[in-house]
Amino acid sequence: LKVLLKGGRLFDPSIHLDKKSDLLINGDRISRIGEELSEAEADRVVDCRALLVTAGLIDLHVHLREPGFEDKETIYTGTRAAVKGGITAVLPMPNTDPVIDSIAFVKHIIATSERDALVRVYPVGAISVGLEGKQLTQMGDMVSGGAVAFSDDGKPVMDAGLMQRAFQYSTMFGVPLILHEEDLNLSSGGQINSSLQATEMGLSGMPREAEEVMVARDVILCGLTRAKVHFTHLSSPYSVSHIIEGREKFPGLMTCDATPHHLTLTQEETLGYNTLAKMAPPLRNASHVKKLVEHLKNGDIDCIATDHAPHTCYEKSLEFEKAPFGAIGLETAFPVCYTYLVKNGDVPLERVVEAMTSKAAAVIAVPGGTLKSGSIADISCFDLETEAVYEPSMVVSKSANSPYFGKKLTGYPQHVFCGGRQVLAYGEAQG
Ligand SMILES: [Zn+2]
Repeated sequence: LKVLLKGGRLFDPSIHLDKKSDLLINGDRISRIGEELSEAEADRVVDCRALLVTAGLIDLHVHLREPGFEDKETIYTGTRAAVKGGITAVLPMPNTDPVIDSIAFVKHIIATSERDALVRVYPVGAISVGLEGKQLTQMGDMVSGGAVAFSDDGKPVMDAGLMQRAFQYSTMFGVPLILHEEDLNLSSGGQINSSLQATEMGLSGMPREAEEVMVARDVILCGLTRAKVHFTHLSSPYSVSHIIEGREKFPGLMTCDATPHHLTLTQEETLGYNTLAKMAPPLRNASHVKKLVEHLKNGDIDCIATDHAPHTCYEKSLEFEKAPFGAIGLETAFPVCYTYLVKNGDVPLERVVEAMTSKAAAVIAVPGGTLKSGSIADISCFDLETEAVYEPSMVVSKSANSPYFGKKLTGYPQHVFCGGRQVLAYGEAQG
């Protein structure tokens, strides 16, 4: 099947592409880019004249909750939420029940995805058995079964000795470790960012140092072992400083991401005990956010990942200290970054698109993330004009815990293709 995307603004920073042109999909590949490609050649024509056409977005950090927490999300619903946000590949974290800590469970995720998923699902295996931080998993087995990275996300690896062995072990397979950095002795019991506001709200704080000391530790261990590491959901700009310093000594090993919410929201969102803004790591103060955005702008922060964390309405309606951490993010990742970061001129569009496409693909060395002819036809087409207030009724995910409800966003996707197949048409998930 040949599909012609007509007249879109084709945008791929990795090949310095930014021009109004046509793009021809042939089967599962991008066949050609050119002005005025013949419509007669195509089986179908999609009008993209008012749209920004990028490679499909790749999200390095999501929670699809299956197996074990299907009341929050499933591979079926979570990948439809991804499609709704222009995301064509996701990395589900292994903190499910059971934990994805053996080849059998990795294969189970892949088999379920083949049946249910609308986008590419690349499983992440656990670093430690049962996420208990005591014994390393069989990483080699899991890589051969299809795991693309390892993480104990949800929890840090507190034992530096175990972490060092995990780093050493992972170098045998060339896959990255995705690190949730938090010293539990510093953060434990904390509810929001350590601040006067926390004191005034009567909540215990999670200091940014809880993240920074672990990033510093793992930068050192990375230098020692030469492992490939990816620091995820960074909330403190001072964590990034440690990574910058580490990269100077040991180039080519360390990458990192921040979430849309840490780049756009501050701790004030939790005022009034708003559990939708209760995150781990917590939302920081305005000066931290400003510096974090600066790091995204100049490329110190390579990628944007959502940490899509669905929780039921019931859980999020518990009192603040009992409510779980996290927010959904797949459907709003691009609109939020476009509205809050690009539209007001803080971060160039190139940087945001690169952070969600080619830079993310490079971390796990998977195809995609580019519009280069010959590459896989994972493509997203965004409407950068229409403004719409984000409402719970728009949510496709099984859970509706978003801190962006009621906010005006621009940049929702209209059409999405995954492997040449149209999975979103006029804003509606297909199949
Ligand atoms: Zn985490």
